[in-house]
Amino acid sequence: MTTITDRLAIAQHRISQAAQNASRRPEDVQLLAVSKTKPNEYIIEAYQAGQRRFGENYVQESETKINLLSHDYPDIEWHFIGPLQSNKTKVVASLFDWMHTVDREKIAQRLNDQRPDDMPALNICIQVNISLEESKSGALAADVLELADKIALLPNIKLRGLMAIPSADVDEQTASVELAALQTLFNQLAERHSSVDTLSVGMSNDLELAVNHGSTMVRIGSAIFGERDYSKT
Ligand SMILES: *Cc1c(COP(=O)(O)O)cnc(C)c1O
Repeated sequence: MTTITDRLAIAQHRISQAAQNASRRPEDVQLLAVSKTKPNEYIIEAYQAGQRRFGENYVQESETKINLLSHDYPDIEWHFIGPLQSNKTKVVASLFDWMHTVDREKIAQRLNDQRPDDMPALNICIQVNISLEESKSGALAADVLELADKIALLPNIKLRGLMAIPSADVDEQTASVELAALQTLFNQLAERHSSVDTLSVGMSNDLELAVNHGSTMVRIGSAIFGERDYSKT
């Protein structure tokens, strides 16, 4: 039986290989372990294997988990990676270290206003819609630089980069075109804002391609924690 510890090591190895194949340093690509729908015991096992960054998608689920885990595991870095309605921003502002799916000014403004004074600035990635084949959430690429300029002015949130979810079930050529466009936009953004250092892209099935296109943070769920069962949630 493979354990979470084994699968974490395999994921790390895939990242290292992909980085080397792209002539990049393995340490420049961080692993975000996506624990949505999975119990706290799984997070603790990954923690004990050395993992510190965890990604969650659902406001209510993450609130319960973080409240239970933050006392014993204060050095876990929590990343919100799901869609967020503007009336739910307070949980993210008060519990998370990172928020990857900002796609409009209103959400950014609310996160800024609701960030508690005693916490460091919330790290923000703008989610970009790079999908050529289907429409998904995320800001349009043409709107990203303007949105970024506004976010950069808000004191309680810190612009760190871009996040994207490439089209599912497309051929590698199409996926590469999407990722190349994302990388170009990311480089433009980094030139404009010195705080930008994070390109959040790549999941269990496409991490190699994403690392080849400049990803600095891959978000890996099922390859570490197993397939998700949504029937019980
Ligand atoms: C669920 C999820 C992931 C992880 O996907 P896997 O295919 O299980 O690795 C990554 N990013 C986002 C935004 C997700 O919702």
